[in-house]
Amino acid sequence: MRHSAKEIQTLAEAFLRASGSEAEEARIVADHLLKANLRGHDSHGIGMIAQYAGYLRAGQLHPNTPPTILKDSGAILQFQGNLGYGQRAGWEATAAAIERAKETGICMYTIGNCCHLGRIGTYGEEAAAAGMIAILFVNVNQFFPLVAPYCGSEARFGTNPFCCAIPATDKHDAFILDFATSIVAMGKTRVAYLAGKRFDEPVMLDAEGHPTTDPSVMWTEPHGALMAFAKHKGSGLCFACELLAGLLSQGGTIQPGHPRNGSIVNNLTGFIIDPKALCSMEWMKSEMDAMIDYVKSSPAPDPVNHPVLMPGDPERIRTAERLAEGVEISDAEWAAVLKVCREAGVDEALLH
Ligand code: NAD
Repeated sequence: MRHSAKEIQTLAEAFLRASGSEAEEARIVADHLLKANLRGHDSHGIGMIAQYAGYLRAGQLHPNTPPTILKDSGAILQFQGNLGYGQRAGWEATAAAIERAKETGICMYTIGNCCHLGRIGTYGEEAAAAGMIAILFVNVNQFFPLVAPYCGSEARFGTNPFCCAIPATDKHDAFILDFATSIVAMGKTRVAYLAGKRFDEPVMLDAEGHPTTDPSVMWTEPHGALMAFAKHKGSGLCFACELLAGLLSQGGTIQPGHPRNGSIVNNLTGFIIDPKALCSMEWMKSEMDAMIDYVKSSPAPDPVNHPVLMPGDPERIRTAERLAEGVEISDAEWAAVLKVCREAGVDEALLH
């Protein structure tokens, strides 16, 4: 069934309010979930509240808990996430880093131990809208490892996302590169497994370490592992996310000496750069325009189905489509959303 943006925002906000969040936090988190749905990343949209309800019950997610400062020193801002909503911690810490970068030219900021940060591109978009460049590295704690290192067979990493965002010019939209370092996100294996489908190419390893297209290896014992993208290169970037985010935030890595309670806890290490500190904006924009035009002029063998796009374009295309036509959400996922809303005490009039 399709659901409108207003319906998703209203229901997500109502769930958050009913489960203890004050109004501003509910708005920020609901806005993030809606944007993830609109951008086409449903794995990070309203469906996540079913998981968050469990974390709230287990005391693994603390509403109304903003990030707090561990270190504030010139171009460094280090935040403690305090197991609050990651969408709030990410938004507020990025806003603070943007303000700092206006003074210092660059701000390196970290967030340690917040609950799920959601779609990392949201913070790239936040920075780009303020005229800033963002480079973000994220790792995952508490959840069980899902991604095998190159040449390994057992999982040793989370799906550690990376994001690079560069602001728009007068002619072109912002460059927003934002992806998990596994070939496919874990949520996509669940969808394929429940639908009884296989992937077109091997994206996972079975428990013996053999590449497979069968998603059941992630959902039945003995478990397999997701493969990092691009062999040693993606595995290396995943490892870099693990170390940069885990170490500099003081949130720690996924190494087995730490407890794992099964919730998603994220750490982030990011760089917000004010390009004005390095070059004239007029020059930068004209150079970017020329380069993007050059890239897009590469002839596409199948321009209708596979045009040459810039990172961020697919999400903009989907946002326009979904604002016009609504967001397709499976009945099972919507039922899970309605169930946790009902349990939280959301007004029955909103639950349909
Ligand atoms: P994906 O594979 O869909 O890749 C998305 C990126 O590739 C975007 O930048 C998009 O603009 C670009 N892109 C896609 N098709 C393109 C094309 N044809 N031409 C040019 N660029 C193209 O993303 P994913 O790996 O499935 O990740 C989905 C989301 O999951 C991300 O937003 C990520 O931040 C999030 N995530 C979060 C966590 C967490 O712990 N919080 C963990 C993993 C992933």
